[in-house]
Amino acid sequence: MEPIRYALSFTAPHTHYVEVRAEIPTSGQREVELVMAVWTPGSYLIREYQRHVENVAAIGANGAALRVIKTAKNRWAIETGGAATVVVTYRVYGREMSVRTNWIESGFALINGAPTFLTLVGSHERPHEVALTLPSGWARVTTALAPLEGVAHGFRAESYDMLVDSPILLGNPAVYDFELEGKTHRLVNEGEAGIFDGARAARDFESIAREQHRFWGAVPYHSYVVLNLITETGGGLEHCDSAVLMTSRWATRTRKAYIGWLELASHELFHVWNGKRLRPAALGPFDYEREAHTRSLWVVEGITDYYGDLLLHRAGLSTRVEFLASLSNKIEALQTTPGRSVHSIATASFDAWIKFYRSDENTPNTSISYYIKGSVVAFLLDIRIRLVSSGQRSLDDVMRAAYAKYSGDRGYSEQEFRALVEDVAGANLDSFWSSALEGTGELDYADALDALGLRFKIAEPDNGRTPRRATLGALTKIDGGRLVVSQVRRGTTAHEAGLNVDDELIAIDDFRVRPDQLDARMEQYVAGDRVSILVARRDRLTRLDVSLGAEPSKPWQLEVDPSATAQQRAGLDFWLAPSGNPARAG
Ligand SMILES: [Zn+2]
Repeated sequence: MEPIRYALSFTAPHTHYVEVRAEIPTSGQREVELVMAVWTPGSYLIREYQRHVENVAAIGANGAALRVIKTAKNRWAIETGGAATVVVTYRVYGREMSVRTNWIESGFALINGAPTFLTLVGSHERPHEVALTLPSGWARVTTALAPLEGVAHGFRAESYDMLVDSPILLGNPAVYDFELEGKTHRLVNEGEAGIFDGARAARDFESIAREQHRFWGAVPYHSYVVLNLITETGGGLEHCDSAVLMTSRWATRTRKAYIGWLELASHELFHVWNGKRLRPAALGPFDYEREAHTRSLWVVEGITDYYGDLLLHRAGLSTRVEFLASLSNKIEALQTTPGRSVHSIATASFDAWIKFYRSDENTPNTSISYYIKGSVVAFLLDIRIRLVSSGQRSLDDVMRAAYAKYSGDRGYSEQEFRALVEDVAGANLDSFWSSALEGTGELDYADALDALGLRFKIAEPDNGRTPRRATLGALTKIDGGRLVVSQVRRGTTAHEAGLNVDDELIAIDDFRVRPDQLDARMEQYVAGDRVSILVARRDRLTRLDVSLGAEPSKPWQLEVDPSATAQQRAGLDFWLAPSGNPARAG
């Protein structure tokens, strides 16, 4: 099939525009229709990218201007006048710093497929070629796309899906290559600024890749590219042969921030297998014009998040304490989010488009993240499988078996994934599914902790002499010099007393509270004290009587139980040992 050929240029990158020229084969039709995606796979929100498109025009045979008629918010029909090829030109504004959108500035550009390329309706299987003209001073283009022979900065995607799945970074980044299993891996750092330690990050990423190769036992890509944009923001997005990460230039400077970057890199690499190739049936082939609902995002994101951290530890890059802290933080986030008793993770997965990606001040009361609860459920499922199979099987085996069976064209249904887990475990898991996936009750950690000789750290002994610290139970922010309520969680004092989001806190017991004084003022009280709060609600002063609550103790941090038996310690060691450890062979 004749390709669509795009030429991208940046005549004034400091104005944040990319100019696109597309040669569209018409197959002799009198009219062709072009379409732009409204969302990016992996990021479940309708984003209406076409709002950044300008000046769509078309030229036919002999340079004749053709009529362009907008037929939908994201579609353009072109009367071809019988031309074999029409040339379509347009400009795209790109100044949204996120992993799924475009960013164009004087020194570099990130070009994503969905918000950039108009394609022919119904032509997803057609090859798409891209040639880039770089602004002067820009030396390098990096993408997972295959180079187009004989064309400088030219690339070829065998399909529209591949084009959308292959973001392009242009500029002068620092580049680190390593070979592993005969595959080239490339870490591309835009914005190191002499601060981000790229060499160390590349070395450690190599350890992560080695551990993940051992885990899966097969490497499906020819090469893998990490586009690491060091742009003082966050996020990551997976692709078949690449990933986009966003981070801070200070991320290699402190241990905690660096573990966070490594966990993100590990998470996105795990998606090469789980999410991109092994996937729910709803996640491909994509309809780029409407939502793709699935109840299985907890598998795609939760299991990936669990293994992102676990394989980082198995690779020797985080300590046991650091890994347990990461897992504990997820358990704590789950156990302190009231929405866990409202929304199951199966439903949270399905509702990603209207809940997770459209969060507001009430989200913690009404929903639960399928990343957070999904990774906690993955942990419990992993240990459950180990228990019911007497240590012979684990979630590792499930993921490898699922990859072998469902990484082809079709993907898995919810029932197929559950059946496969039960098959590997050799046990019926109906009660686990109904409580952990369908249910909104509390998860039971007892068996998993017992199997591994772990326990939750015991909170400070409550001997009745140390009064609990008082809290309003509302989150606040400083807005224009005012102290304003930003979130009121269900079950807190603030919720019961009628404190509202956007209330300005002015005084407690008739003494002014300045924006930076709330914590210090709370130290004057203990849980149970009654106070009078003066707030301004839309500038009208209102008094609220509040009985202060107790600052939550943090009982959700895991530690090794000092009285763990040898068998429990062996279970813990086996769980955390590197994937290539001979102990795993049996
Ligand atoms: Zn992910």
